[in-house]
Amino acid sequence: MSVIKLKSKLKYCHYAYDDEGYVIHMLTSNERTFFTNAYIIETKNSIVVVDTLMVNSDAILLRQYMDNINKPLIAVIITHGHPDHYNGTEIITGFKEVPIISTKGIRDCIQDTVDSKEVKWKPYFGQDWPEHKILPNQLVIDSEVVNLDGLDYSFRDLGAAESSSDLFFTLGEKRSVIFVGDVVFNNMHGFMNDGNSAQWLKVLQKLLTEIADVKLLFTGHGDPGDTHQLVQRQIDYISHYRSNLLAIIRGNQLLNDTQKQSFEQLMMANYPEFQLSSFIKAGIDAVSQELIVEQNDKP
Ligand SMILES: [Zn+2]
Repeated sequence: MSVIKLKSKLKYCHYAYDDEGYVIHMLTSNERTFFTNAYIIETKNSIVVVDTLMVNSDAILLRQYMDNINKPLIAVIITHGHPDHYNGTEIITGFKEVPIISTKGIRDCIQDTVDSKEVKWKPYFGQDWPEHKILPNQLVIDSEVVNLDGLDYSFRDLGAAESSSDLFFTLGEKRSVIFVGDVVFNNMHGFMNDGNSAQWLKVLQKLLTEIADVKLLFTGHGDPGDTHQLVQRQIDYISHYRSNLLAIIRGNQLLNDTQKQSFEQLMMANYPEFQLSSFIKAGIDAVSQELIVEQNDKP
């Protein structure tokens, strides 16, 4: 019998915007932690980290990339309150006082759910789950611009979408790039558990016009891509998930196990190239409840 030792590794890519004075380093975790992206935005004198990954071992690897760049960390930005995006914060900040930027909605979301996430995931991740709970300590409001090492970070507070509170931000005056957290996935099934799918669709519709000028979109899961295309595809995915589910729901009944399985198979057949298929089933009850309420509210 051979023992297979799984080595944790982050996938690495970088995108240089030399004429605008920054480089984006993208690090991606493996499937065990949902292919989550974290970013290091490097400017002339310093670095900013966007999201901090889910487990200690991945955060330590992210820190190694930061150390190799060898510039001081001047801020961390948290895109939303799901643990695959904030759990590594203590390791990333090196236990020092660093501005951890987010909105009030996101800080409240982390505060309200951090214990239940630990109950759910710590038995699975064990010591790889962080011991301390770190909250954002610098809150931005909608349309606030924060200048970090000469680069403008322009924030928008989106309210509920993929999670109970989401944000996006663009960089610089040119707005060449946008970071949207999990409001958009690329080639991955969406995380529908928070049951805000109708609101999420509204937010995405607004984004289609509001960020039409931004060329490249960086997501929480998946490769970066054309902004308009990725937003439109996310709209199509959520609409499809909802209509497929609505076709199965009978009255006020949630789906039974057999129905859930056939829904999962249908979505996998519709999106054969998509990763994170475990997210399909995970969102069924939350979105079903949403759809049932919508049906009952109809005049
Ligand atoms: Zn995520």
